[in-house]
Amino acid sequence: ERVISSEISNYDEPFEQSLRPQLLKQYIGQDKIKHNLEIFIEAAKMRSESLDHCLLYGPPGLGKTTLASVIANEMDVQIRMTSGPAIERPGDLAAIVSSLEPGDVLFIDEIHRLNRSIEEVLYPAMEDFCLDIVVGKGPAARSVRLDLPPFTLIGATTRAGALSAPLRDRFGVLLRLDYYDEEALTSIVMRSAELFNASIDFESAGEIARRSRGTPRIANRLLKRVRDYAQVRGNGHISLILAREALELLQVDPRGLDHIDHKLLIGMIERFRGGPVGLDTIAASIGEESTTIEDVYEPYLLQIGFIQRSPRGRIVTPLAYEHLGMPLPIERND
Ligand code: ATP
Repeated sequence: ERVISSEISNYDEPFEQSLRPQLLKQYIGQDKIKHNLEIFIEAAKMRSESLDHCLLYGPPGLGKTTLASVIANEMDVQIRMTSGPAIERPGDLAAIVSSLEPGDVLFIDEIHRLNRSIEEVLYPAMEDFCLDIVVGKGPAARSVRLDLPPFTLIGATTRAGALSAPLRDRFGVLLRLDYYDEEALTSIVMRSAELFNASIDFESAGEIARRSRGTPRIANRLLKRVRDYAQVRGNGHISLILAREALELLQVDPRGLDHIDHKLLIGMIERFRGGPVGLDTIAASIGEESTTIEDVYEPYLLQIGFIQRSPRGRIVTPLAYEHLGMPLPIERND
C-alpha cells in the first residue's frame, strides 16, 4: 500500500478518529468554507431551525467527514453516518431518516453512489421532510406520506459532477474543499504532534507538510511513521535530519511523489518523449488500469503542474523534468 495514498485504510482509522477536530476553530485551513459555515450555523441557531442541506466535495482525505462532525457539534445535534453504497434499498434509507431527532445531521459519504430509486425517496425527505411510502402490491398499492423531523443532510463526494442534477439542486449549500497549502498543513502536523505527545520543531513539521500532497490524511500518516523513526533512531524528538531520513526511507520525495509517480512520469518521458500520450497507452505501458491512473495517480500531478491534459493526451511539463533532473527533449514544442 502507498504511504501517500489519500484513501483511508483500516490501519488509519482509530488513529484518525483521535486526531479529528471537534469545533470549527480547531479545523485548520479552508477559511472561506469556515467563514460561510459560521454565518449559516449562527443564523440557523438564531431561528431555531435545522441547517440547510450541505454538499461537501473535493478529493479524498481533505476532511469532509471531519467537517460534517464539526458542523453537527457546532449545531449541538447528533450525527448519523452512512454511505451511498451502504444504503441498498429505499427501506434502509426510510429506517435511518425516521429514527432522526429534530435538527440531527445525516451524513452520507460517497453520495454519488446512491442508486436512483433511493434518490427518489430522498427528494421529498430533503424538500418537505416527509417520506412517500408505497404500501401493498399491485392494484391495492397505495402511497402513504410520513412526516419526518426536520434534519440536515450532509452529502460528501469526490465527484460532484457524478451527482444527478435533481439531487445536486436540493442542496442549499455547496462547499468545495481544496488541497491545503503548506502553512495550513504545517499547522495540522504541529497540532497532531501535540495530540499524541510527539516532540517536533516547526521546520520538520514543514518538511512533512511539503511532502503530504496537500492532504491532511497523508500528513498525519507521514507524521506517525516519522515519529516511529525518530524514536528508534534518535531520542524521540523529530528533527529535520531525522524527518528527511525517514521520508527518504519511505520513498516519498521532496514534493510528495513516490516510486509510482516516478514510474509514471519517467515512463512517459522515456517511451513517449513526454507526450502527448493517451491515458490508455500510459496505462498499458506501466501495467495499471486507466481509471486508477485517472482517479488516483494523476490528480495530484495535475494539481502541482507536473502533467497537463491536452486534446491529444497527457503531457509531462518542464517543471516535472526539472524536478526529476531530466533534460527536456530538444525539439519538443508544447
Ligand atoms: P474521505 O472522503 O476519504 O473519508 P475525508 O475528506 O472525509 O476523507 P477525513 O477523514 O475527514 O477526510 O480527514 C482525514 C484526517 O485528516 C482526519 O483524521 C482529520 O484528523 C484530519 N483532518 C482533516 N481536515 C483537517 C483540518 N482541517 N484540520 C485538522 N485536521 C484535519
